[in-house]
Amino acid sequence: MTLDVIVVGSCMTDLVSQAPRLPKAGETIHGHKFFIGFGGKGANQCVQAARLGAESAMVCKVGKDFFGDNYIQNFKDSGVHTDFVQQTSDAATGAASIIVNDAGENAIVIVAGANMLLNTEDLKHMQPSLICAKVLVCQLEISAQTSLKALCMARESGVKTIFNPAPAIPFLDAEFYKVSDVFCCNESEAELLTGCPVSSVDEAQRAGQNLLARGCGAVILTLGPQGCLVLQAEGSKHIPTEAVTAVDTTGAGDSFIGALAFYMAYFPKMPLEEMARRANQVAAVSVQTMGTQTSFPFKKDLPAALF
Ligand code: ADP
Repeated sequence: MTLDVIVVGSCMTDLVSQAPRLPKAGETIHGHKFFIGFGGKGANQCVQAARLGAESAMVCKVGKDFFGDNYIQNFKDSGVHTDFVQQTSDAATGAASIIVNDAGENAIVIVAGANMLLNTEDLKHMQPSLICAKVLVCQLEISAQTSLKALCMARESGVKTIFNPAPAIPFLDAEFYKVSDVFCCNESEAELLTGCPVSSVDEAQRAGQNLLARGCGAVILTLGPQGCLVLQAEGSKHIPTEAVTAVDTTGAGDSFIGALAFYMAYFPKMPLEEMARRANQVAAVSVQTMGTQTSFPFKKDLPAALF
């Protein structure tokens, strides 16, 4: 089987309780709704690429527990290949315990668990498939060393790379820029990495140029309802997106990156600006429905002009 997209990254089970207010220390309160969601930036991006039709595989580590089994089934349901999903007894599946109050505020505890046990040795399993793959995607919700190794392996195999420096951190090993064909981040990640404010398209332009100068092939800076900015050596372009009524923007960036990975794999000759324009459209669909992966569109839900 030839893979289009390989994502090396995280899986998190979201345990969400909705309550009238957030409890104080030592307090027990009653909530009115509970649900379990599938999250983790890596898994989200992989699921979106698969839903658009890319042969996608996830490289990750989950626990040998109920949540790990459940997550593997979720991948299968979304058409994600699970040959490189490992289960360990040494840690629990990554989990985010989330409490949301009636005002929409939240308190979140993330336990990365098994995600942090994915190491560079584990990447050897994907090597035979990597050499035939088209795009590899990484983020920073697993060990940075493992992400960097995966990106280097892809580069050595002539596989295009997308790096998403999320969650935001102030300092990033300089090598990450050099091994990124596309360095894709949001406004807060760009602000933290460059120290420049990013509250307008002009400011984003300056921050993006700063990141591009660090050695990546291209930079895409996502700007929420303002679409994104694509910066390459030959110039930069703001790609606006359509105005939609957003009900839940959680995971919008992951929908965008999953779509971008799909376009890079399927239409390698398409200009990056056009891929970004289409990825904007896919992500715009995702923000119009509640949930993270549950809001990510399938190919059948989208206009044929996007394919
Ligand atoms: P993140 O989810 O990482 O914070 P952004 O908020 O920049 O990332 O969103 C990523 C992409 O999702 C944007 O580039 C855009 O295409 C789309 N998007 C996000 N919010 C909206 C919105 N309110 N309306 C339309 N598209 C949106």
